Amino acid sequence: MKKRHVTCLVDGCGRRQYARGYCQTHFKQLHTTGVTVPIRPYQPRDPDRVKYAGLRLTKRCAAVLKRRARQRRLSAGAVIADILEQWHLRQRADRS
Ligand SMILES: [Zn+2]
Repeated sequence: MKKRHVTCLVDGCGRRQYARGYCQTHFKQLHTTGVTVPIRPYQPRDPDRVKYAGLRLTKRCAAVLKRRARQRRLSAGAVIADILEQWHLRQRADRS
């Protein structure tokens, strides 16, 4: 049986209790500001996405990155960094 955790005391929060009945975020909020405000709810996991290099990507995107990393003998992070650098350079070129 899956262990169910007790949820935060803030209405509609739904996160796991961390201290004094509050989740970590609400506990810190209460501690630093004295009040709690709503925070972004947990996003449900998209079953069509896979984890790759710490990111949740479509299976197709992850497959393309894996292939490129293998071809260039680079790590996943290096391939993603290359793509982002190229994108950034294109953005700068488009602006000038
Ligand atoms: Zn909470």
